[in-house]
Amino acid sequence: MQAKKTILLWLLLTGLFLLIWRATMEANRNEQTEVGVGEIVRLAETGEVKSVVIEGNSVTLTPGATSASHVRYVAIADSAKPELIRILVERHIPFEERVPSQFMPMVISMLPWVVLAIVLVFFMSSIGSQSRNASAQIKSKSKMAENVATRFSDVAGVDEAVEEVRDLVSFLKRPKDFGRLGGRVPKGVLLAGPPGTGKTLLARAVAGEAGVPFISGSASEFVEMFVGVGASRVRDLFAEARRHAPAIIFIDEIDAVGRKRGGVSSGSHEERQQTLNQILVEMDGFAENSGVIVLAATNQPEVLDGALLRAGRFDRRVYMPLPDVRGREAILKVHAKNKKFDDTVDLTILARGTAGMTGADLEMLLNEAALYAAKLGHPAISGSDLEYARDKVIAGPERKSSLLTPRIKSVVAYHEAGHAVTAWFTKNCDPVYKVSVVPRGSSLGHTQILPQGDRPLKSRNQLLDELVCLFGGRAAEKKVASGDFTTGASDDIERATAIARRMVTDWGMAENLGQRTFGEKEHGIVFENERRDYSDATADLIDKEIRRILDQAFGRTENVLTEHWDRVVALAEALLAEETVDGARLVQLLGERPE
Ligand code: ADP
Ligand code: MG
Ligand code: ZN
Repeated sequence: MQAKKTILLWLLLTGLFLLIWRATMEANRNEQTEVGVGEIVRLAETGEVKSVVIEGNSVTLTPGATSASHVRYVAIADSAKPELIRILVERHIPFEERVPSQFMPMVISMLPWVVLAIVLVFFMSSIGSQSRNASAQIKSKSKMAENVATRFSDVAGVDEAVEEVRDLVSFLKRPKDFGRLGGRVPKGVLLAGPPGTGKTLLARAVAGEAGVPFISGSASEFVEMFVGVGASRVRDLFAEARRHAPAIIFIDEIDAVGRKRGGVSSGSHEERQQTLNQILVEMDGFAENSGVIVLAATNQPEVLDGALLRAGRFDRRVYMPLPDVRGREAILKVHAKNKKFDDTVDLTILARGTAGMTGADLEMLLNEAALYAAKLGHPAISGSDLEYARDKVIAGPERKSSLLTPRIKSVVAYHEAGHAVTAWFTKNCDPVYKVSVVPRGSSLGHTQILPQGDRPLKSRNQLLDELVCLFGGRAAEKKVASGDFTTGASDDIERATAIARRMVTDWGMAENLGQRTFGEKEHGIVFENERRDYSDATADLIDKEIRRILDQAFGRTENVLTEHWDRVVALAEALLAEETVDGARLVQLLGERPE
């Protein structure tokens, strides 16, 4: 398209140039000096001229083949013409009389206008293409109708969510059938879940399975542009979908425009409001069973405006949770398909060691492993490549260069050894898998545990044991430095406090406070506002109970460490020498873990 235009432009310019050139030639010819009839006859008679062409006032004299002179143009006066012709006839000199062309003089007089017109056309078209570029840029932000190859089989580990959207595929394929008995096919479905759990992927899979175009835009992009653009982008999106129906519209990050109304008003707030209203108008506007289904994604479903969630709008909600251990295994298998592994790799074990990771994390992990294996020149991805990638994804890349004094290294080694030993000898702690004093990200050391599957319920004893493990680091530091300790346990202490607080206030696990909750949470808001529904005296009891739980746990931790101190020392020394201890070496240092 663009290339064609440029060629056309060049053709025009070349043509124009040729015209001007010819016109100037013509003009030159017209400016020839007038010569007498005698002169022309003389030239003709001497044989220097082969032919004479008379055209209006100008005479073209073409020299014979033998002559060295050039074609000459001369002019004669009107009055001299009849005489010239008479003499030429008399003396048998061949000549030709032509009617002077009207074309060139006309072109010459029109030339300025032609030039002007060409320049104008050129300008207009370049301005046009610029604005077309700009609108194309805006449009490309939300990729317009796109055919996707994603299938439900690409979305692993979230079977329930897939089941929930499966019937959308039949709706899209046969919208009329479902309306036959007066049923209303859903217009909007909200996909809710943490980032990276596959919301976009699932939406694409619905379009892919149904074989309909996928038309997507991100709400945060709608509002980050100029005022008024958000609403018009929404209009475009829906217009495009109607053109392609049946189709899927996917609006990512809908919370960027769909927050609860109210609160402070600002410029960007206005823009959001307009964009949100446009979405509502469009959703109400398209006919039922028209074959357009809007999928929207958010990771904060609780902040959405009620107006969006009303019947006829996003009245279906599909939750995409963090995958559990079986889900993670399934996701790993999907992304392992195009990769080569050697026989040291067990994806089931990897799934167990990646608790809390999303589908996106797992995909990144396998990718990192593949890159690392390639870098090392391995023929296939090995268990140790995966190990490296997992550590990198969990904790960020190793900070090899960070300079730790021997004193700090030793503190970190005892801290981690403390965690590892308490976990090893405390019944309800997950088994330790790997201990390391290689600094990563913001932490200086790591004790990794291998969760035994996800626990939907936790007992009081399990929670208390968890506290014991969390205190392992601090208790070991305290013991080795005869009472002094560092800030290195701040994270452990924060987590322990949170667990103890919830035991008392949410789970009714306090000794003397009964089976009740304390503090009414306003659910759904990102910052949980707590309303106090108890007396000051009770507040005092709560604080005391939290304190008691934590102190007791810490006492137990210290007992475990005292009992097994020789192993703490052995492990810490090993860590200082070897940096990372895992597997058989761990068993060698700590002994078999008691059942
Ligand atoms: P979200 O939209 O929820 O933030 P995405 O759909 O963009 O997450 O996921 C990013 C990538 O992570 C996907 O392209 C896919 O490669 C991978 N992924 C996420 N969840 C899954 C899953 N359940 N199954 C397979 N791959 C997944
Ligand atoms: Mg996404
Ligand atoms: Zn710690």
